Amino acid sequence: MVITLPAEAATLQSWRFDASRNQLTFTTEGGVQPRAQLIADPTRLVIDLPGTTLGRPGTSQVVGEAIREVRVGQFDAQTTRIVIELNSGYTLNPQGVQVRGATPSQWTVQLPTPERVEPSATVVTPPIANTPSPNLPPTESVADTPAVSGATTQLESVRVTPDGFFLRTTGDAPAINVDRSRNRRQITIDLAGTAISPQLTQRQLDVNRNGVGRLEITQAETSPPVARLTLDLTNPGIEWRATASNFGGIVVVPTSGAIARTEDDSNDDEPEIEATAAEPATIEAIELANGNTQLLIRANQPLTYTSGWDRATAAYQITIPSARLDDSVEGPQLDSGSPLMRVRLRQESEDTVVVLVQPATGVQIGSLNQPSGSLLALELQRSAAIAVPSPTSTAVPPSTAQAPVSLPGVSNSRVVVVIDPGHGGPDPGAVGINGLRETEIVLPIGIQVASLLQQQGIQAILTRQDERDLDLAPRVQIAERSNADLFVSIHANAISLSRPDVNGIETYYYSSGGLPLAQTIHRSILQGTGMTDRGVRQARFYVIRNTSMPAVLLEVGFVTGRDDAARLSDPAFRNQMAAAIARGILQYVQQNL
Ligand code: ZN
Repeated sequence: MVITLPAEAATLQSWRFDASRNQLTFTTEGGVQPRAQLIADPTRLVIDLPGTTLGRPGTSQVVGEAIREVRVGQFDAQTTRIVIELNSGYTLNPQGVQVRGATPSQWTVQLPTPERVEPSATVVTPPIANTPSPNLPPTESVADTPAVSGATTQLESVRVTPDGFFLRTTGDAPAINVDRSRNRRQITIDLAGTAISPQLTQRQLDVNRNGVGRLEITQAETSPPVARLTLDLTNPGIEWRATASNFGGIVVVPTSGAIARTEDDSNDDEPEIEATAAEPATIEAIELANGNTQLLIRANQPLTYTSGWDRATAAYQITIPSARLDDSVEGPQLDSGSPLMRVRLRQESEDTVVVLVQPATGVQIGSLNQPSGSLLALELQRSAAIAVPSPTSTAVPPSTAQAPVSLPGVSNSRVVVVIDPGHGGPDPGAVGINGLRETEIVLPIGIQVASLLQQQGIQAILTRQDERDLDLAPRVQIAERSNADLFVSIHANAISLSRPDVNGIETYYYSSGGLPLAQTIHRSILQGTGMTDRGVRQARFYVIRNTSMPAVLLEVGFVTGRDDAARLSDPAFRNQMAAAIARGILQYVQQNL
């Protein structure tokens, strides 16, 4: 994958947050298309400006009570990021956020009034489970409550908030596990060591907002106790996360979800129109454009959407709420030369349209943009040619317009590289923010690295291609039996959940033979992703100690890191990481084998 920038990159010229109006304004030199999303823990609105550079150090502005601060910085080589962070105890209704462009270079982000999640003044430490309350609830609800032993946390109440749910707990902060049913219609959030308060008598609720139809609370286990929140989803395209908040409770919010956005092309002071209009949008066309590099979805009015990979079908899914498919829409005509293997359109429910996109071999799904309110553009990238900088240059010029450099010598050689995605199956590896699991990061990255190497004529062997249990010894055996030239094990790092500030990549080698490989890949990842540099280090990990060829172990970021977890959850970023790893391996092969 080549990092592509728009022909002319934009620069963020100025920004200002007006606390009295809850309004952010910014101007750029060159047009931008901002993307906004609300992220939890802490609750913050993140506005990314793709193709934009800051060209100076990041800055911030401390705001006040509900809104803690506004920060501006360079998120990666191509993206300037503006973060509006709320103090704990506050949230925003994402539907109320309006991003308006007066021109492509003058933008206003209007926030709704922040809402209080939980008054921090009334935090109490009541008795934990099993301590009978003096005010006993009615007998029938007690009868519903099985006897629970060993609870360290009590679930007191469940509240529907503007952007999700708030579970008030007392006692310890419980370990949280979020799971999704195979058909993706149900999310279960398990709180370990937690008993449901006998006073919590209403245990089922019709929610009917934010893509959730109904919720239910059950005491799933009694000894040790596990309290379970089950959400029946009406919009399976939305991912959910649950995180312990600072003051007794668990915040449950979507991890992804497009925010209402309108393009304001009028200069007057008319009230703004929210993108989520009452009348559903009509999807009028879905077509390939710009030389098969984009899939465009056109509607008759502004759209909101969520998107992500659907694991069951291995397709990229775009879910468009409040929309109907026009009868005449057929989708693009595809043939053997098309970048897509299949595009499926379906009216998922009365007012939700789902578009499933299956890329052809060698094609990567890039970012999904919204060039105008009523138009979605999915970037499609042919990954057959991977750019490899010449040995003398240390950085890929970001705006290089030349064709990608090919790899002399490699396509005819018989180089064998073993790619080892760590963990798998019953062993998820490290588990971090929002239950982000190491295996779900390293497996797709490993598969993508192998695929990129294959395309360059290198024989890439994966130690595992799916979620299976694989001990360390067989991983080494695979490398030894295949007479591999190089061994690259891919892992993600973790530290305590209380250290979201720790982020960055580490690259390990054991014998000196692995050092140059470690250095080359490490440098390539830093250049290709802009992640924090935590150094190349020596360590006695089994797989790099027992392999006879140059071997490295990559820690591609922290699942417990606030920045890393957000990035590693994103399939587009994982592809970027895979490309950087592959580029490093190819450079090493080019220079050493
Ligand atoms: Zn690991």
